[in-house]
Amino acid sequence: WTESTIALVTGGNKGIGFEIVKKLAQQGLTVILTARNDEKGLDAAAKLKSQGLNVVFHRLDVLSSTSISQLADWLKHQFDGLDILINNAGIIDYEPGLASAQKVLDTNYKGVKDVTRQMLPLLRPSDGGARVVNVSSRLGQLLKLKDSALCGDIGKLEGLTEEKVDRFVEKYLQDVKDGRAVESGWPYRSYSVSKIALNAYTRVLSESMKNRADGQHIYINCVTPGHCKTDLTRNSGIYTAEEGAETPVWVALLPPHGPTGQFFAEKHVEDF
Ligand code: NDP
Repeated sequence: WTESTIALVTGGNKGIGFEIVKKLAQQGLTVILTARNDEKGLDAAAKLKSQGLNVVFHRLDVLSSTSISQLADWLKHQFDGLDILINNAGIIDYEPGLASAQKVLDTNYKGVKDVTRQMLPLLRPSDGGARVVNVSSRLGQLLKLKDSALCGDIGKLEGLTEEKVDRFVEKYLQDVKDGRAVESGWPYRSYSVSKIALNAYTRVLSESMKNRADGQHIYINCVTPGHCKTDLTRNSGIYTAEEGAETPVWVALLPPHGPTGQFFAEKHVEDF
């Protein structure tokens, strides 16, 4: 890896995202640390630059399509593309209710889709193929869906489409709105639903890349960092954020022609 390899990390100002930026930069890559808040992002980037790392800040709010397109324009102009995209930004719901559920789904699922859609044309499928890593969770594994009908909507790769995943999410939000999410068999947290949807989207997108000509591949995987002590978990995890960054970075830097459409935990493949 050299400094001409460009990696972008969303939510890079703190937690696992910050540690992912650091580890990638320590491998010699140029890393775009993005954050929705300029001050926090600039501070975080300055900290890493002071360690001699090649880190550049750019604003990105994954909830704003305009913010994403401004970043895409800037990337095109500055670097003429991108090699590695790490969709790390995420939130969890600690309050019940539709507003909170909507925000979690918008950030953890729709936000990732919007960033990925706008970054895909910039991804350079060089020799080893470009990579997309979606930071997900074991709370997004299908066994969290107790209801077999819900699982049937999304559980099989065959016939799975982005529209089906969107419908799955809409169905959930409608059930929350109608106050029947629990009786309909949905997981307790919207966070879990958002990561189930993210995993399904990862598989759909990865499948769609398989028809590309040799040398044009983009490898797309999702990965759990494990339960980490960060603001998101109110510091309740068992790993540090630095330890949590290990598997996402390992997946991002796997040798050429590696796996795609997989879910990774602790540097091995697990079931969806
Ligand atoms: P943190 O809360 O420490 O960091 C979350 C990051 O996401 C922050 O930089 C935050 O920015 C950013 N973010 C949130 N919303 C947006 C937005 N709209 N646009 C841009 N950035 C945004 O959480 P973690 O480091 O723990 O989580 C990182 C990822 O790891 C998440 O996807 C999470 O779901 C996943 N994960 C975490 C686990 C854990 O145990 N910690 C376990 C499994 C998965 P800001 O500072 O401005 O709020």
